[in-house]
Amino acid sequence: MEYKLTWQEYNKALKKDRLMGLRCEDCGKFTCPPMMVCAECVSTNLKVVQMSGRGKVVSFTTSYIAGEGRENELPYTIVLVELEEGPWIMGNLVGVDPKRVSMDVMGRSVELGYRVYPGDKFSSGDMARPAFSLRD
Ligand SMILES: [Zn+2]
Repeated sequence: MEYKLTWQEYNKALKKDRLMGLRCEDCGKFTCPPMMVCAECVSTNLKVVQMSGRGKVVSFTTSYIAGEGRENELPYTIVLVELEEGPWIMGNLVGVDPKRVSMDVMGRSVELGYRVYPGDKFSSGDMARPAFSLRD
C-alpha cells in the first residue's frame, strides 16, 4: 500500500493555505488529515482533493501546559472542527484570546489558515499546523 497523499505533501500544501484531503471513489466520503485508507470504508481507492477549509467548531480546549520547547506558545486554544466535507480535524484557534475563549465558540463557523511551528525533538523539522479563525 502507498500513501496517495503523504504527510509531507499535506504539510507543503498547508503552507500555501491549501488544505488537502482524500475523497473515496468507492463511498464518496472525505478523509482529512490524510491516511492510507478511507476513514469510512477502509478503501484504498482514493483521490487527492482540495478541501474548502471551512467548517464549524464542535469542541475546544485551552492548554496552559506545553510540550518541551513550546512554553512560549502558552496559553493556546485547540479546536476540533467539523469540515464542510464531513471530516473532523484539530487545529489551533487564532484571533481569540485563549484566556477569554468560552462556550460561545461552540458551533461557530471557522475558516482555515495555517501557522508554521518550529520542529521539536519529536518531529523532522518545521511543520505547518491548521489554524482556524472565526468567520462571523
Ligand atoms: Zn470510502
